This record gives sequence, structure tokens and C-alpha cells, in this order.
Amino acid sequence: MKINVLGAACEVGRSGFLVNCDGVNFLLDYGVLFGRRGDPPQYPQHVKPKEIDSVIITHAHLDHSGFVPSLFVSGRCNVYATPPTLELSHLLIEDMLKIEKTMHPFDIPELNKMMQYSKEIGYKEKVVRGNSSFEFRDSGHVIGGSTVLVESEKKRLFYTGDINLRGSRLLNKADLDFGEIDVLITESTKVRIHKPSKCQEMSQSRD
Ligand SMILES: [Zn+2]
Repeated sequence: MKINVLGAACEVGRSGFLVNCDGVNFLLDYGVLFGRRGDPPQYPQHVKPKEIDSVIITHAHLDHSGFVPSLFVSGRCNVYATPPTLELSHLLIEDMLKIEKTMHPFDIPELNKMMQYSKEIGYKEKVVRGNSSFEFRDSGHVIGGSTVLVESEKKRLFYTGDINLRGSRLLNKADLDFGEIDVLITESTKVRIHKPSKCQEMSQSRD
């Protein structure tokens, strides 16, 4: 198992991790880092679509999903996500293109092509490619949000974007019952321990 970090190392945004599993390439997220005060957006390092077997989107936030349509400018590849993630990604990317006209190297036709090649999968639904596999687990972060467990060559990699360990009335807490792993890639934007929000406190006291 070889891991190439394409973005989101020591920074927040443009997540992208290419994992080569015995010759099969999985791309975990491919997002956008938005520029501040009119600066242009930044993207993860380039990867050729023909080299990717599957793009796996953890959740719809644009720092994880926003650059996936760029893979359809001159190529195509399979895209996997939960049904809410696909629907919300479509909505958010379309919105991004409306707001930031001409700023991105792709447009609505590439977004539509991305949706055409997208496949919906649920949590714990294992997808096997060659000698390797991946499956989603609930991240508890947003509706449809996932973490990814990749298994190959007797190694197990667990990848997370944002996760929520508390849960709420709308969302389960993150499913971290994944057993032993060899590699963990995780988002660590916030290192503070948060107090429960008012809404969470109310929901806990009622349950
Ligand atoms: Zn997020």
C-alpha cells in the first residue's frame, strides 16, 4: 500500500490522498481550498483520471468534494459516495460554479459527467477492486458523511475527514468500531475539546 498526499497536509482544505493498493489506485477526496480576499482557489496536486480506479468522497463539503469534476475535463473514472453525499455535492459544486464564475478549470458539463459516473453505496457496503476493497462508515459529521476503511495486502487503512464523536438528534456519532488498523489518516483541524452545544445538551437531557 503506497500513499501519496496530494493536499491538506499542514493546511485546511483541498483534501486529496491517492492510495495505491496492489496496482489499484483509490483517490480519497479531492477538494478545493478557497482563496481569501479574492485570491484564486487552490487545488490538490494533479492526478491523471486514467490512473484512478475509484474516487471515494467522504462528504459533500467542498474542501473534500469540490475538485472531483476536474477529473472529467479530459477523462473519466468511477466515483463512490453515499446517496446524500452525491446529492449535496452536486448542489454545492453547482453553487460554487455560479458564485465563482470562470475561477475553476471546469464547469457544469464536467459536473454532470461526474454525476453520470457516480455510484451510490451505503455504510459497510464493501466494494472490491482487484485484490483490495473499501467501505464507508458513518462519520457523524454531516448527513451522508463517511469515513473510509481500505483493506489491501493484509493491511488496513482508516481515513477520516471531519468526524463527530458525540452525535445529535439528526446524526449518529462516528462509527469507530473498525478493529485494528495499520494506518490512520485523519483530519485534525480543531484540537480543542468542545463543550456540548446548547442544542446537544437539550437533546441529551431529553433522551
Ligand atoms: Zn466537513
